[in-house]
Amino acid sequence: MPQTSPPLVLCLSGHDPTGGAGVHADIEAVGAQGAHALTLVSALTVQDCHDVQRVVPVPAATLAEQFELLAASTRIAAIKIGLLGAVEQVALLARWIERLRVPVVLDPVLRAGGGSELASAELQGAVLEQLLPRVTVLTPNRAEARRLAPGQANPEACAAALLARGCAHLLVTGGDEPGAEVVNTWYRTNAAPVAFRWPRLPETFHGAGCTLAAALAARLASGEAMAPALDAAQRWTQAALAHARTIGEGRRIPGRILR
Ligand code: PLP
Repeated sequence: MPQTSPPLVLCLSGHDPTGGAGVHADIEAVGAQGAHALTLVSALTVQDCHDVQRVVPVPAATLAEQFELLAASTRIAAIKIGLLGAVEQVALLARWIERLRVPVVLDPVLRAGGGSELASAELQGAVLEQLLPRVTVLTPNRAEARRLAPGQANPEACAAALLARGCAHLLVTGGDEPGAEVVNTWYRTNAAPVAFRWPRLPETFHGAGCTLAAALAARLASGEAMAPALDAAQRWTQAALAHARTIGEGRRIPGRILR
C-alpha cells in the first residue's frame, strides 16, 4: 500500500444540509489541520440552524461496503465518530476499530443544540457497551456526560464512571454550561483533571462539538501526543467560533475556512 500524505481520518457522521455540523464540519476541520477526511455518512438529516427535524439512517450494509473498499486501498490513521443513524452501525464500528487499531475520537451526539433527541435508549446503551471500551477520547458536553453516566453526584464522579467504561481519555466540554468562561476538562485514569479555559463568545453555535472532535482526530492522526493535540484542537476551534458565520436564522456556524 502506498504511504499516504496527508494523514487520513475516517469520519462516520451525519449529513447536515446547513453545513454547520456533521460531515461538512469533519471535512473542513480535518482539512484545516493538514489531514484528509474519508467520509462515511451515517444518516441524512432534515434540519436548519435551529434544530433537527428528522434523521434518516444509511443502511449498515452500505457503510460496510464503503468501508471495505477504503480500508483495502488506504492507510487510515484515526477514526472520528459523530451522529450514529441506527444501532446496527455500532457493532460495525466496533469491528472496524478492532481491525484498524488507530486513535478513535467519539463525539456522543445525543441531543441537538435545538433540543431534539438524536439517540434512542437502545443506541445509547450500545455505544456505552460496545464503543466506550474501544475509544481513545470521548468528547461529551456536560449534559451528554451526565446522560451517559446518570446518578453521579458531581462532575468528577461522572467522569470516573465514564472512564470505568474503558475509554482512555475524556474531554468534557462546558459550552452548554453558564459562566463567563467555557471550561473544558480533560480526565484520564490515575491523573489529575486538566481544565482548559476559553473566553465565552457572545453567540450560540451550531456544529461546535463536531468541529472540535474532528480537529482532535486529525491532530491524533498526524501523530501528535494527547496533551498538545487537545490544546491545538481547542485553540483552533475557538478561532473558528470567533470567525463564525451567519447563514440564515438560528445559531451561527463555525468559520472553518477562508479565515
Ligand atoms: N446534525 C448532525 C449531523 C450532527 O452531527 C450534530 C451534532 O453533532 C447536530 C446536527 C447537532 O449539532 P448542534 O448541537 O451543534 O446543533
